[in-house]
Amino acid sequence: MSRVAFTVVGGGPVGSLLAISLARHGYAVGLYEGRPDSRQTSVYQGRSINIALSDRGWSSLEKIGIGDEVRQQAIPMYHRAIHGADGELSKLPYGQEGDAIWSVSRGGINEHLLNLAEDEAGIATHFEHRLVDIDFTTAVTTFELANGEQRVVEADYAFGADGAYSKVRRLAHNLPRFSYSQTYMPQSYIELNIPANADGSHQLETNALHIWPRKDFMLIALPNTDGTFTCTLFLNHAGDPSFESLREWPAVEAFFEANFADAMAVLERPVDVFLEKTAAPLFLVQVFPWSFNRKVALIGDAAHAIVPFYGQGMNCGFEDCAELHALIDRYDHDWERIFPAYENARKPNGDAIAELSKRNFVEMSDLSGDKRFQLRKQIEAKFSERYPKLWTPLYSMVTFSPDVPYAEALRVGDEQNEVMESIMAMPGIADDWDEEYVMERLHDLALQTFGAHQ
Ligand SMILES: Cc1cc2nc3c(=O)[nH]c(=O)nc-3n(C[C@H](O)[C@H](O)[C@H](O)COP(=O)(O)OP(=O)(O)OC[C@H]3O[C@@H](n4cnc5c(N)ncnc54)[C@H](O)[C@@H]3O)c2cc1C
Repeated sequence: MSRVAFTVVGGGPVGSLLAISLARHGYAVGLYEGRPDSRQTSVYQGRSINIALSDRGWSSLEKIGIGDEVRQQAIPMYHRAIHGADGELSKLPYGQEGDAIWSVSRGGINEHLLNLAEDEAGIATHFEHRLVDIDFTTAVTTFELANGEQRVVEADYAFGADGAYSKVRRLAHNLPRFSYSQTYMPQSYIELNIPANADGSHQLETNALHIWPRKDFMLIALPNTDGTFTCTLFLNHAGDPSFESLREWPAVEAFFEANFADAMAVLERPVDVFLEKTAAPLFLVQVFPWSFNRKVALIGDAAHAIVPFYGQGMNCGFEDCAELHALIDRYDHDWERIFPAYENARKPNGDAIAELSKRNFVEMSDLSGDKRFQLRKQIEAKFSERYPKLWTPLYSMVTFSPDVPYAEALRVGDEQNEVMESIMAMPGIADDWDEEYVMERLHDLALQTFGAHQ
């Protein structure tokens, strides 16, 4: 009997990981990527673009059996290095001592996963195959090749892992009862670069995620292993200041000097790059269902494009793969049950991380400005250190607690928020926050709210 065959559309990080997982379950996998092979042509134009991978990503990679190999190329970031508007530098740890999020090259991790995929006997990779059509009842896909020819591919099942602009998802719009929403954020972004020192070392502290929080906009920088930093400037699309309003050299230069004076000294041609580049929009996409006729399903950004303010997009996509990996075993390869179980398990979590990510812009971009917010974080950190079973801060639930689903982190975080609102409303809290009676009050409230669950 011939092996059950899957088509995976999109050879990005999620598609590649999914293909590995399917192959390790004994399936025959065709992995189809629209672009040329980045390992042979310069798809990334020589620039390292990086992202933060955290415990959910690592634990998902480990569940599929490849965690250690990827971690060798990652840089741990133990705290946020906050560059104040006055030039003052402060540190805000990510969690407990030793907790880190990891800067990895987006292209590097993709290529590494592609190499691993090609080592699997059951996977055949095909580049420059752009999906143009899919039959949602038969999983037959049609690809356009670089020379304009079309190729029809038959398989038993198909996955759309083709990213935030997914063609598979766009084709699903024609299906009955398909719900879809797309929301643009006010911000867009461009990437900038901080080159390495002449000896290859970093110009800023290596093991930190650098943030220049300026309330309505912010600059961040993540380290690369070659000594450079990839920076991302998040700024409103329209209004003042915005990508739309800043169109002339002197105004852009004045904007950088007024807001990012210390970064100006190390950034590579920031004003030119700002004026040369077209800012990319930030949007989120939510859809339902994620699977169609027990034949085709969406995964990764194709199912849940989110905004990057929690650094969770890829982590969430890897979790999708790990969930599916486990479901294949739990339901003994019965795809009639796996598809619905997959979307029921993952959809609420995709929605939750979408919401959390949207909210986190405010938290990130206001880190140094809002003293009340800082105070709240201090109180929470002290309390959580004393009563770790009763209180894990929301950031730690999302980033360092892969066993807590995103949906639960969102729910518990909202309850914690109510408790902290009461604490912050206590008279004299700014002066007394370190006093024992504040901890006692918080303990009482936390027990009332969470006691039954702990
Ligand atoms: C500015 C920014 C910062 C981010 N930072 C983080 C972070 O710190 N941490 C984090 O976890 N996530 C982050 N993300 C999100 C992360 O990049 C995505 O979640 C991740 O890349 C999703 O992987 P994917 O494989 O689902 O989609 P993609 O990476 O988009 O890959 C999809 C693949 O499908 C291919 N494709 C598209 N259409 C077709 C077609 N018709 N036919 C065939 N192939 C096709 C594409 O060429 C691509 O290779 C960030 C995103 C942005 C924009």
